[in-house]
Amino acid sequence: MLKDRFGREISYLRFSVTERCNFRCAYCSSYKDDAIAKEPPLEDIEFILKGVRTLGFKKVRITGGEPLLRSDIVEIVRIASNVGFEEIVLTTNAYRLKDLAKDLKEAKLTRLNISLDSLRRDVFSQITTIDKLDDVISGIEESIKVGLIPIKINTVLLKGINEEDIVPIANLTKNENIIVRFIELMPVKGNPFFERHFMAFKKAIEILEKEYTLKKIEDSNHEVANYYQIEGFKGKVGFIASISQHFCSSCNRLRLTSTYKIYPCLFSTINIDIKDAVKNRDFELLRSKFESAVFVKPAGHGEIKIGSKEFIENMRELGG
Ligand code: SAM
Repeated sequence: MLKDRFGREISYLRFSVTERCNFRCAYCSSYKDDAIAKEPPLEDIEFILKGVRTLGFKKVRITGGEPLLRSDIVEIVRIASNVGFEEIVLTTNAYRLKDLAKDLKEAKLTRLNISLDSLRRDVFSQITTIDKLDDVISGIEESIKVGLIPIKINTVLLKGINEEDIVPIANLTKNENIIVRFIELMPVKGNPFFERHFMAFKKAIEILEKEYTLKKIEDSNHEVANYYQIEGFKGKVGFIASISQHFCSSCNRLRLTSTYKIYPCLFSTINIDIKDAVKNRDFELLRSKFESAVFVKPAGHGEIKIGSKEFIENMRELGG
């Protein structure tokens, strides 16, 4: 297992397997034409997954762009399972999930994270610029039906846009083992959304506490969220405070972009290119690239404020 300079064991890889996306979420990256968006071929993904598993990584998250747009997505999950990852998770907008949930489960996907910022059709369309809320809901229902549980729902907190959705989305945890996580908006290069719509997680807690009593659940290792249970509800709600209360000291992850670059920290432009290692199927070079990435992983990203110079370069390439 790789260990960084600060004693953190690095065992979790987030891998953006495509830059393509069928949503155009207002707070995400500026969008490239999908025709020129990058994605590694399946053979490269197989080499990478085998390699990083050998280096001691236990958990892989498949993200993007929208990973379910890849026609070989089930095969990618199967490869991750065959090479022995203990946890294989996937982040999706759920638009294509209804048709794919069963095959993903059979390929041994462990769990899903589904992005859902509003339960109101007009607001959902305003944020994503696509009128597909019904498909997302069907995807969630199908995933529960095939046993891809517990499902995690990620909701980005957007001041002036989705405050009214906080209680209804938390209500999804009432009867199902669903975990809703409210996520603080992060700054993305060239996108003014952060300045206008950032909402601290404490505001969301305030809104929920007007309706419900929240009981704190003790943190487990490497959890990025603070979790609570609403009295009498089956699931739980969490808050990911990447900005106002970051969790760098327990960060155990590296990110691999759809363009073959390892990013040791989401908010740093430091990156290590592994293209040569992958194209030449050179495992020793791959190992040394990952070791370097772990070595340069910063202690943390410090404080990020409105107007900050620290921002995410390309959310879709990085995978969130
Ligand atoms: N297409 C997939 C999806 O929608 O979940 C995976 C990729 S998306 C980039 C991964 C996650 O990043 C989503 O939950 C999305 O809401 C989140 N995200 C994108 N831009 C963000 C931002 N500026 N701040 C916080 N989260 C963001």
